[in-house]
Amino acid sequence: MHDFYSDTQTRPTRAMREAALDAPLGDERHDADPPTLELCARVAGMLGMEAALFLPSGTMCNEIAIAVHTRPGDEVICTRESHIIFAESGGPAALSGVMMHPIDGERGMLTPEQVQAAIRPRSAHAPRSRLLVAEQTANLAGGAIWPLGQLTAVAQAARDAGLATHLDGARLLNAQVATGIPAAAYARGFDSAWIAFTKGLGCPVGAVLAGSRDFVAEAWLLKRRWGGAMRQTGVLTAMCLYALDHHVARLAEDHALARTIGARLAGLPAIARVLPVETNIVIVDLAEHAPDAREAARQLRQGDVTVTVVGPRRLRMVTHLDVGPADADALVAAIGALG
Ligand SMILES: *Cc1c(COP(=O)(O)O)cnc(C)c1O
Repeated sequence: MHDFYSDTQTRPTRAMREAALDAPLGDERHDADPPTLELCARVAGMLGMEAALFLPSGTMCNEIAIAVHTRPGDEVICTRESHIIFAESGGPAALSGVMMHPIDGERGMLTPEQVQAAIRPRSAHAPRSRLLVAEQTANLAGGAIWPLGQLTAVAQAARDAGLATHLDGARLLNAQVATGIPAAAYARGFDSAWIAFTKGLGCPVGAVLAGSRDFVAEAWLLKRRWGGAMRQTGVLTAMCLYALDHHVARLAEDHALARTIGARLAGLPAIARVLPVETNIVIVDLAEHAPDAREAARQLRQGDVTVTVVGPRRLRMVTHLDVGPADADALVAAIGALG
C-alpha cells in the first residue's frame, strides 16, 4: 500500500515502542506519571507557555480550548476551511454552544483587517465576538505556512479588541522545520496552542495543549468532565518524548518528498493545478478531461495508492514517515495512468 491519505497513517516504529517499555509509570490525573509530566513541561517550553496538558487527540485540544475561552452564544472567528468547522463533528456548537464566524481566507490565512471587520461592535443584539482561531500550517490550503508577521498581526488585532486567541498547531512543527522559526515565536500572540503527536511525529496517540496556568487548570476540569483523563499515560507519552527527540528534524524529508511529488504531478496531463507545496501536503486540482476526484481516488486505490478527496475535483496527498521515494513513484505513475 502506498498511503498518502494522511500523516496520521504512520505506525509507531520499533524504537518508539521500545521507548515505552521501560518508562516509569504513575497515575496522570494525580500528576504522578513521570513521562507525561516531562512531556507537558517540554511542550509548554517549546510553545513559550506556562503549562500544558496531555490529551487523547487534537480535536479534544481544540474543543476544550474553545470551551474554556467562550460562553454559549459567543462567536468564534476563523477561516471557512478550518478543521474546527469541517472535521470536528459540530463540536463547537454541541459542546460549547458557540456560533462560528467563518471568513474566506487566502490560502487558509486571514489579514488583520479581515479580523477587525469581522469583530462585532458591542451590542445587546449581536453575538459577542470572543475567540480567534488560526491553523498553522493551514491544512486544507495545502499545508501553507502563515508568515510570522501576519500570524502575529492577526492575533494582535483580535487581542486589541478583547478576544481570546487559540492556535491549532496540529502541524506547527512542520512550519518550524520548514522556516527555522521556533514554534514559540508562532505561538507568541496566542492564549493557547497545541501540537499533535499523531501527524508527522508518527505516534499512535496524543496531543499536548498549552497555555497559562489558569487556562490549563480550566482545561483539566473539562478533560476530566469529558472523559479524557487517563491513568498510566506514560506508555503513550514516552513515545511522544521519543518523537520529539527523533522525529522532528526529519520532517524536512517529508517536505522534500512532497515538493518532488508536486513538481512531478505538475507535468501530468490529468493535473490542472498543484497548490504551492510548503510542507508535507500536496493538493492538486484535476484537469477538465480527467475523472472527478472520487473516481480518481477509486482508480488510484485499485493501484494500491490512497489519497484524500477534498473537493469535487481536488485531491490531497500527505507525506510522512511511512512513505518514501518508491511510494512517490507509484503515486505519480498511478496519477499518470488515470483515465
Ligand atoms: C488532524 C487535525 C486536527 C485534529 O487532530 P486529531 O488528533 O485527529 O483529533 C485538528 N486540526 C488540524 C489542522 C488537523 O490537521
